[in-house]
Amino acid sequence: MKDGRAHTADDRAERIAEFIAPLRVKPGSKVDLSKDFDPTHKKGIKKKKDGQELLRSGVALLADYQRRLAAEGTHGVLLCLQALDAGGKDGTIRHVMSGVNPQGVRVAGFKVPSAAELSHDYLWRYSRDLPRRGEIGIFNRSHYEEVLVVRVHPEHLTRQRLPGKVEGKKIWRRRYREINDWERYLTDNGFRIVKLFLNLSKEEQRVRFLKRIDVPERNWKFSAADARERTMWDDYQTAFSEMLSATSTSWAPWYVVPADRKWFARTCAAAVLVHTLLDIDPQYPEIDDKNRAALELEKRKLEDEAPAGAASDPYAARAAAGARRPGGERRRVR
Ligand code: ATP
Ligand code: MG
Repeated sequence: MKDGRAHTADDRAERIAEFIAPLRVKPGSKVDLSKDFDPTHKKGIKKKKDGQELLRSGVALLADYQRRLAAEGTHGVLLCLQALDAGGKDGTIRHVMSGVNPQGVRVAGFKVPSAAELSHDYLWRYSRDLPRRGEIGIFNRSHYEEVLVVRVHPEHLTRQRLPGKVEGKKIWRRRYREINDWERYLTDNGFRIVKLFLNLSKEEQRVRFLKRIDVPERNWKFSAADARERTMWDDYQTAFSEMLSATSTSWAPWYVVPADRKWFARTCAAAVLVHTLLDIDPQYPEIDDKNRAALELEKRKLEDEAPAGAASDPYAARAAAGARRPGGERRRVR
């Protein structure tokens, strides 16, 4: 990259890559969540204010790159969010996607499968909600529930009516392989998969549950089922650790996001997503000489229609005036 602007973009990309590197699960590594990832960690940012600043610039970058992604129309991005209850999935989606064009985003949430969904293979309902090229898709819970809640509560597996014998660990190893293959297929075909696990501590979950009980406007967010799942905490930690070890791949790595501080989790989520978009580096399509000539022809026709006293091309006039003012080149012309 030769010009100054490109250098700045490179530096920015490098800083983001450095910031998210400790969150990445190295493909092939064996994860023990309780030892390897600290839910309270906020390395790289000293103060909340700095984190919020970083989140704001991440959100702005995201908006810019989403426009390019949509214009290029070649790649799609799928963000998979996994967390235990009260892990902050909803708030993360709200904050990280706050600046992007809603037309370019599709969010899908996954609950206990319906009878209709259970009459298909287990990945069917997830493929139905994949993003199109040019879109960012968000899975609020994802196909990973199939090796998490389904593993912790084997009755869900029984309801799936799989053929043959499906007991023991073999079924989970098979699912990891199937999921890795499916993600590889999607990646090869232009769909990048970003996987975030919001890693909450048991104590912070207790505090958040209490808040949901204490604050009347939050009561609706708490259910007895959440409390029941909490009693299975250790089983979930094991299921998460094994899933992270088996499904963090070079084409779709996992990022374990410390989730005890909401602002830090949101900053990390934005950073990982921006990192992916910078890596894709979508470009606005360039038009060829023939189409350029056609545009110039239309431009002249529109200029000829200018009413008396009006500039022939008000946009170009405003842009030129802006560029002449000190700092004007940075101002966007509307
Ligand atoms: P909220 O923040 O609103 O609580 P949520 O994602 O927890 O959001 P709920 O309706 O509370 O939504 O819970 C959905 C439940 O569905 C979760 O307990 C989840 O584990 C479960 N679920 C998701 N996918 C599957 C699946 N394939 N099989 C069985 N249960 C599933
Ligand atoms: Mg819930």
